[in-house]
Amino acid sequence: MTKSDPWNHLRGLEPLSLCDWPGHPCCVVFLGGCNLRCPTCHNATLAWDMQSQPVVPQPQLRSFLAQRKRWLSGITVTGGEPTAVHGLGEILHELSLSGLPIKLDTNGMLPEALEAILAEGLVTRFAVDVKGPFALYPALTGGAVTEAAARSNLTRVFALARTRPEAFLFRTTKVPLLSADDIAAVRALLPSGFSLTTQDYTAPRRSHALTDSEARRTAGNLVN
Ligand code: SF4
Repeated sequence: MTKSDPWNHLRGLEPLSLCDWPGHPCCVVFLGGCNLRCPTCHNATLAWDMQSQPVVPQPQLRSFLAQRKRWLSGITVTGGEPTAVHGLGEILHELSLSGLPIKLDTNGMLPEALEAILAEGLVTRFAVDVKGPFALYPALTGGAVTEAAARSNLTRVFALARTRPEAFLFRTTKVPLLSADDIAAVRALLPSGFSLTTQDYTAPRRSHALTDSEARRTAGNLVN
């Protein structure tokens, strides 16, 4: 396995989650690395310092899925930011061999990756985090995304969602920077027919094992 090997990003595997994909008892695959630097990140170690987390060997994942897929009805792929992993398609293809549907969590800032994944038919559902109104993206992402880039990227994601409405859902975490008006502004950005799932924010517990979904999850279901 080389450093550029996409499997090098496989840094966590949660055998069973009942809340990552409501209605789908699923396992959760954690991919390290992220293109953003959100100050409110709940998974900062995985996102920014994945080398400190042990790799889950690919054969272990394959063996797990072979043994446990009958008890699961889906796979959630999360991060970090999965679309920032070069060669993500290889991982998704491997996961798809299980026959289980795949949900991908994403910040939506690499729309070309979403377009490619959608075209390949490897993912059933994209759960897109809309951080806030475009103008707040620089503050919400630790300076990683400009207002113009947020507008451009999400406009592409919304266009994709219009073509495949069943494959997308949008959610926003009510971090302290966001007011009720900001949440309303996000809601107004979504293509018609989509509703916004919001979740309350709790401060991250940085010292916890961050591939633990309870450590990274804020209150409430993330996905409808
Ligand atoms: S996009 Fe998600 S994983 Fe990446 S820094 Fe922001 S909150 Fe953390």
